[in-house]
Amino acid sequence: MILYPHLDVNGEGHLTIGGMDTVALAREFGTPAYIMDENVIRTQCRTYLQTARRCFGESALPLYASKALCFTGIYRLVAEEGLGVDCVSGGELYTARAAGFPAERIYFHGNNKTDDDLRQALDMGVGTIVADNADELDALSRIAAEMGRTQRILLRITPGIDPHTHRAIMTGNVDSKFGSAIVTGAALDITKKALATPHLSLAGFHCHIGSQIFDTAPFRDAADIMTRFIADVKAATGFEASELNLGGGLGVRYTEHDPVIDHAAAIESIAAIVRERAAAAGIAMPRVILEPGRSLVAAAGITLYTVGSVKEIPGFKNYISVDGGMPDNPRYALYQSEYTALVAKRAGEPADFLATLAGRCCESGDLIGEGMRIQRPERGDTVAVLCTGAYNFAMASNYNRLPRPPIVMVKDGRARLAVRRESYADLVRNDL
Ligand SMILES: *Cc1c(COP(=O)(O)O)cnc(C)c1O
Repeated sequence: MILYPHLDVNGEGHLTIGGMDTVALAREFGTPAYIMDENVIRTQCRTYLQTARRCFGESALPLYASKALCFTGIYRLVAEEGLGVDCVSGGELYTARAAGFPAERIYFHGNNKTDDDLRQALDMGVGTIVADNADELDALSRIAAEMGRTQRILLRITPGIDPHTHRAIMTGNVDSKFGSAIVTGAALDITKKALATPHLSLAGFHCHIGSQIFDTAPFRDAADIMTRFIADVKAATGFEASELNLGGGLGVRYTEHDPVIDHAAAIESIAAIVRERAAAAGIAMPRVILEPGRSLVAAAGITLYTVGSVKEIPGFKNYISVDGGMPDNPRYALYQSEYTALVAKRAGEPADFLATLAGRCCESGDLIGEGMRIQRPERGDTVAVLCTGAYNFAMASNYNRLPRPPIVMVKDGRARLAVRRESYADLVRNDL
């Protein structure tokens, strides 16, 4: 099961990505390696930008949530495609700056930005800070005053949506560590505070309801609740938000059991609600910001590994051990996330071997998946795990002192290194 049209099987029966043979890529770049199809990321960026503009007007701006996959090359790509970015730390801001990303198109998020983070953001001219809490408003006001500046902000609001029960629940998620809840009155209180705090210029509101969501109903609920909140704030304070950031969270297909999602249609259905509710509430249509991470980059990426052993435990299970694991993909260990895997040189053959795909770490929980259907490999074969473009490299560690894999970008029949493989010397670089 190959899941995506940029993946295919060539005449030799090998898996290809962007038309390039994955067995050859493994030989050329070594394993483990992340391979990404650049055109897939660019196409997704264009889908978001064009659909957002069509639905919300020319001022609409999708932001790439760069925590999904962060390195300088991705910021350059996103800048070329005309999107903004969402950064969540000083390290992401630094990487964006190193890539020359236009600072006015950066939104800076996080529930605990340090004074240093805030100073760094102001120093580089970050366009918008998404403020999480009252302490942050005070710190930001003080720092902006010191620097003789007024900073544009949004406020992070908790609309009270549980995306996985597909309903808006009055109390749902009020206990989140992020933002201020509407239902408790905290959201209105912090809005009043932001309006009264010097050196801050409030543009509007932000919400983010969750991740890997397939159903558009929770997004439409969020759009509905946030539009009503804008109207309530206007009635209570006279302030009318000019910007509404609806966060990220649209899902992607990791396995054949996941639905195929039409991202453009999802954006259109969310837009219809905002337009309808804004008109009904008598407020101007705000500038709408979307913030996809996973759905921009996940599908573009695969990870290539080399098989070290196949262990069959009769009456129990089969293990395939590969030369990576939780250090390059911790998502199964963290959330039991499911993936699809193929033996690259036999990608067209039936996946008739039921196996646990295990990493090489000294840790029983170091697994990439259990109960996976795959061709039976042999030592030395290349295994491809699909849809690893988001939250893999970004979450990678050096556990067991394993160097992080490289990122190889393929485009129009050529492959180039975008991030070099870490060396053993890199591993001891900071050791004193
Ligand atoms: C993680 C996150 C996103 C992106 O989520 P995806 O599920 O990757 O689309 C967007 N906005 C905020 C505030 C986030 O924390």
